[in-house]
Amino acid sequence: MKTEAPGTPRAADGKQAETRKTGRRARELVIKGIPISSGVAIGPVFDTDAAPAAAPRRNITAGQVEAERARLAEAVSASRKQVGKLKARLAILPEEAQEELEPLLDAYVMMLGESRLIRGARKRIEAELLSAETAVQDEAEAIANAILAAKDDDKAGLRRRAGEVHEIARRLTRNLTESGFRSFKDVPEGSILIAEELTPADAALLDPSRIAGVATEEGGADGHTAIMLRALGIPSVLGLPGLTNATARGDEAVLDGGAGTIVIRPGREALATGREAIAAYAKERTRLGKLRRLPSVTTDGEEMELQANLEIPAELPLIAQAGAQGIGLLRTEFLFMNRKGLPDEEAHYEAYRQIVEGTDGAGVTIRVLDWGGEKDMEALAEGVEPFHAGPNPALGLRGIRMLLRRPELLEVQFAAILRVAALGPVRVLLPMVTIPEEVREAREIYERVVKRVRRRGVTLPEKLPVLGAMIETPGAALAADAIALEADFFAIGTNDLAMYTLAVDRAEVEVSHLYDPLHPAVLRLIQFATEAALRLRMPVSVCGEMAGNPRLVPLLMGLGLRSLSMNASAIPRVKQMVRALNIDDCARFARRVMEQSDPKRIQELVMGFVPGERST
Ligand code: PEP
Ligand code: MG
Repeated sequence: MKTEAPGTPRAADGKQAETRKTGRRARELVIKGIPISSGVAIGPVFDTDAAPAAAPRRNITAGQVEAERARLAEAVSASRKQVGKLKARLAILPEEAQEELEPLLDAYVMMLGESRLIRGARKRIEAELLSAETAVQDEAEAIANAILAAKDDDKAGLRRRAGEVHEIARRLTRNLTESGFRSFKDVPEGSILIAEELTPADAALLDPSRIAGVATEEGGADGHTAIMLRALGIPSVLGLPGLTNATARGDEAVLDGGAGTIVIRPGREALATGREAIAAYAKERTRLGKLRRLPSVTTDGEEMELQANLEIPAELPLIAQAGAQGIGLLRTEFLFMNRKGLPDEEAHYEAYRQIVEGTDGAGVTIRVLDWGGEKDMEALAEGVEPFHAGPNPALGLRGIRMLLRRPELLEVQFAAILRVAALGPVRVLLPMVTIPEEVREAREIYERVVKRVRRRGVTLPEKLPVLGAMIETPGAALAADAIALEADFFAIGTNDLAMYTLAVDRAEVEVSHLYDPLHPAVLRLIQFATEAALRLRMPVSVCGEMAGNPRLVPLLMGLGLRSLSMNASAIPRVKQMVRALNIDDCARFARRVMEQSDPKRIQELVMGFVPGERST
């Protein structure tokens, strides 16, 4: 693979700009990141972070001056941290790229110190009674104009320096305004969206019919942003070091979501390879599409239920096309994203109705709100007061813990789920359970809501939706036998299970190499929880990202699992694998894998499994 230095023609001073003016910017650059969602895209890049942050002009009163200066100081400190993080990640770039980017980031750090920009903005807050963001914008404009008016023959260098000032002003403004919801409406059709970071809420706003691909600097393979992108079927690569500084808006790029690469300003060869890959990918999809109507059954007649995970209603058509046997995990967080204020019972009901009706009675498992960790939702920030996630959100009031603290949220969701149960089979799933008591308490609330809904005259089905528990922490997995006595079914969430078992944040690029759902500790927990459920003949499924990896199906079937829920686009390949398997081989294979204690050896075994080969 060819890796060249990013040729961003921006510089902290004229001299460096000179060296960058030598045309390198036009050269091809390949960056490798984390493969997230397969598919190949060719198109111009569109850098959303470079879009001006929306900050209307605002005046303040003399009494607000101190508060505005404090806001500015906070934004400066946040921006310094962000740039520092970018600098720290330079180390993983090729040397040539480091040489190119380091001076630029140093210039940013300087501008975020006691620079003219910061001093000037502070002065304007006080002297002109301007809000911090208006002061920053005005000061940046004044500095940039002065740079552009300088007597210097290197006009391109001057433009670059002025651009750097604006860049820092935009970063400050974004941090100051914590800019509401990002809008992707302006992204030109067919573009590859580039950003430092996308939140799950951002991803929920993307229109897969308009956006050809997504590439970001931050993000891990099984974070919620990754899950969203996979669900939307947008070719995506996350964790691309140096990406935003290496591209300019409009640069052409070839993004390969399966390989985890982006080629910026591709040469003829890279373009031709990209085009071939697009054609091959379309052919493969047509082939897999033919599996839709075939049963998910092994060569010796063992059935494997294949369901879909759903993050946003826009995925419904994809789920129907994939041939899913219902929805095994409806993540309801989307209802709380990109909105101010909490959704009411009617909003929940409408969303669930659309989904239950859209799946033709195949069954929908509705998971109640799993707030916490990286899933930040504006509706909750406003709607549930006073409320904060604590110093370590992943270990704080997440999932069921938060819902039991704020039962009114749970009541609204339960009521809507009960109403929708009249339209088709549904189940209720509780996230982040760690002790049996949580299921018991949730059930008490559920039963109260049943009575209340009945009193309102709503007709409920004779058989009420059952109440299940997610098994997604080591504690829950090891206490699965106790939790099984309270819950009606289990859904094993391997994304969080791997995160909490290995102490590796699933969305953090820096430790993504340590995130390994095939680690023996994770596999042993899956086995323990599965066996606890099977002993009681209780339904159990896996609904983490692991379930969508065809290579892991023999192992999961061998461990006794007969139900998987995954991103819809994974279903055909998983079904193809199920149809090639023999259940005795799977059981033998699982025994062999579970004897191993070395994660590398497990990887080798799993990758080397060939259906029908006796050596397994
Ligand atoms: C999981 O943790 O594996 C899971 C399915 O839940 P989520 O990804 O929504 O946290
Ligand atoms: Mg989870």
